[in-house]
Amino acid sequence: MTTDDYNGLLIEYGDEILILVDLATLRIRAANGAATRHLGYTQDELIGKPVTDIVREDIPLGLLGDTRRVETRYRRADGGTLAVSRSAFRPTAHPELLVIGAISCEPPLSDTVAHLGAALEAAGAGLLLLDQDGHIASMNRQFAEIWRIPGQTLEAGDDAAIFQRVESCMGDAKAYRQRLLAIHPDGEDETCDLLKLADGRLVERKSRPARLGRKIIGRVFSFTDVTEDKARESQLKLAAGVFSNAHEGIIIADAAGNIIDVNAAFCHITGYEREESIGRNPRFLASGRQGLEFYQAMWKELSVYGHWEGELWNRAKSGKLYAERLSISTVEDSVPRHYVAILSDITELKEYQRQIERMAHYDGLTGVPNRALLADRLNLAIVQAQRYQRPLMLIYLDIDGFKNINDLHGHETGDQLLVALAHRLRDALREGDTLARLGGDEFGAVITDVDGPGECKHILERLLNVAASPITLRQNTLQLSASLGVTLFPQDNSNADTLLRHAAQAMYQAKQTGKNRYALFDPEKEQQTQTHHRSLERIAQAIEQNEFELYFQPKVNMRTGAFIGAEALIRWNHPERGLVPPGDFLPSIEGSELTVRLGEWVMDAALRQMVLWRDAGLDIAVSVNIAANHLQQPDFLRKLEKKLAAHPTVSPERFELEVLETAAIEGISQISSLIENCQALGVSFSLDDFGTGYSSLTYLRRLPANMLKIDQSFVRDMLWSAGDKAIVEGIIGLASAFRRAVIAEGVETEEHGKLLLHLGCDLAQGYGIARPMPASRLPSWASVWRPPPLWANG
Ligand code: C2E
Ligand code: MG
Ligand code: MG
Repeated sequence: MTTDDYNGLLIEYGDEILILVDLATLRIRAANGAATRHLGYTQDELIGKPVTDIVREDIPLGLLGDTRRVETRYRRADGGTLAVSRSAFRPTAHPELLVIGAISCEPPLSDTVAHLGAALEAAGAGLLLLDQDGHIASMNRQFAEIWRIPGQTLEAGDDAAIFQRVESCMGDAKAYRQRLLAIHPDGEDETCDLLKLADGRLVERKSRPARLGRKIIGRVFSFTDVTEDKARESQLKLAAGVFSNAHEGIIIADAAGNIIDVNAAFCHITGYEREESIGRNPRFLASGRQGLEFYQAMWKELSVYGHWEGELWNRAKSGKLYAERLSISTVEDSVPRHYVAILSDITELKEYQRQIERMAHYDGLTGVPNRALLADRLNLAIVQAQRYQRPLMLIYLDIDGFKNINDLHGHETGDQLLVALAHRLRDALREGDTLARLGGDEFGAVITDVDGPGECKHILERLLNVAASPITLRQNTLQLSASLGVTLFPQDNSNADTLLRHAAQAMYQAKQTGKNRYALFDPEKEQQTQTHHRSLERIAQAIEQNEFELYFQPKVNMRTGAFIGAEALIRWNHPERGLVPPGDFLPSIEGSELTVRLGEWVMDAALRQMVLWRDAGLDIAVSVNIAANHLQQPDFLRKLEKKLAAHPTVSPERFELEVLETAAIEGISQISSLIENCQALGVSFSLDDFGTGYSSLTYLRRLPANMLKIDQSFVRDMLWSAGDKAIVEGIIGLASAFRRAVIAEGVETEEHGKLLLHLGCDLAQGYGIARPMPASRLPSWASVWRPPPLWANG
């Protein structure tokens, strides 16, 4: 048999190595393709080769024709070995031959790569296997993805095209293949490089030799996109940098609140080393200034909202207290949960704040609270007085004659005096009470929980004593005094501002009544004053809105039956109250400037009415009532003149003034000359309500009035009161003695008229003749009135 014949026996049986050995020479007679491929020999090299060059096992055993599969190693042409699973047998037709069949147990190169690739694919790395010549032996999907190699380029398997893609990704990396090959010419070392791609991605390149058995068959390159990792890494680095370099202290604590880490700033603020702090609960810094409630509220908020922010006082290692602003957050996405606390030392800030607050609430000179703080304390005290039903007292204190001290001894001494006095006053009060400087030489004190009037008096007297006790400054010993105004809450049920105003009001009263004393504010009196004030305002408004009207009451001569004139009497047409008589509103404006304004209006209105009557052909004499203080106005005469001039059709002789409240007249001689001057204009005067003022006689002598009006009270009662009748008689006698006319008012009945006529008084006015009536009704009344027959016989 020729070799070819033998070769013909060796069928290609899958990838199984088949070798035919001549048992006589132990040389190889034939070998198949798989044998040449796996062992690295050519067909020619194998033929004639002693089989022992390749098979190292115990030959005789094999020669027996061992059909079992045996794991063994065969020597390869390159000196390496090949793991195989072999069997051998002697064909019965050719007992001189031995057939060895072996299956390689080592995966082929591509399998190696595939295997490696599968492992690396899971790791997400791009994999490239270059053989020794720099040809691509294999690559995986991720490799193509990293280098953005299109599908068709991959399929074409064109090395050059693939490397072109790689190079374009690398930007300027020309001849990339060569550079890869040049990495480690000896091929042994493992490498790791970081590549920066043109598009900014960062790719980590690792390489190591690819071996098949002992033989290096090329190099495996793995490429991993580490862009995100690097970014995260730099973020972490940044975070770490922030942590360690921050000016704020940072605490990281676990779910139980125990410290895991702290930064340098924390150590700086607290004075505790990192090692001393780790593992402890931050409570070890507690100063005791915040109670348990504070921390409970903090944890509650933290658990509900995941965040807490606030200020608290802690104690540093040195024992010193410091204020910190603390912000704690729960790190929810970490498992287990963590807490991060950021704290800054705000002790200095607090100090500034305290100073500013001091400036805002305390008096710079004396150091006692200022007006703003007093108002705060007063507001608080009001709330508490209401809650606990305990009265409080507010005192307003003003030093008597302090200006003189300043003028006499200089401002510096004045200031020192204020300081000394402020401290003495403060010391005279109880702990919980407030003494404040309100400005200048004025002080205020809020005294809470006052035990009845006895204690009030006691406190006030003590303060007066303190203010009056001598103060020695350098060589000068000065003695002062103070005036105190006091108001009590809730008797004076007002707000803080008003209470202070009321106390000040009472203080002025103390000044006015002689200084060096106290005066109590009277809420009732204030109430009256308020009402009075409001009614004055309303009356002023009524003048503007023309709500007043003059009624007229006729005066007659009872003996002749003549209608001699009318008295103008004011009425208020009040929009809500209806017709209001003068007795209801005149007393409230008595003595005020309003009486003058109203008197002016009355005179004008009366003159206007006289003009109207004149125009209607009636010549009616009119008297108007004039208040004493109106008459005493310096420009009274001038104004009267003007008014008369403004109504030229009215003859001044028909205009009469009834002087009221003669007893209130001061400076009789001036008034008497005024009356004379008015009389020179033609205007006449009567003394109203004559007999009521005890000095009537004086007035009668000194005031040159033309007529006396007997007060209605005597007239009304003279019928049954002998005393009143005597007075009426007396007045009538006086009038005739002083040559004055006389008229009686309050003639309510015919009997009254009859007696008056009998006593010698002919002129009268009263309900028995006519009630006061609107101006429009007077002419018709005058045309029909007749005196009763009883009088004709009088
Ligand atoms: P008077 O000046 O003494 O005026 C007389 C008052 O007596 C009027 O009251 C009048 O209605 C009332 N009277 C008249 N006859 C009788 C009578 O027979 N019996 C009773 N019981 N009363 C009678 P009137 O109008 O209410 O005025 C009261 C007072 O108000 C006046 O007293 C006067 O003092 C003052 N008055 C009235 N009008 C004015 C005014 O325009 N200016 C000023 N300043 N005071 C006025
Ligand atoms: Mg009158
Ligand atoms: Mg009268």
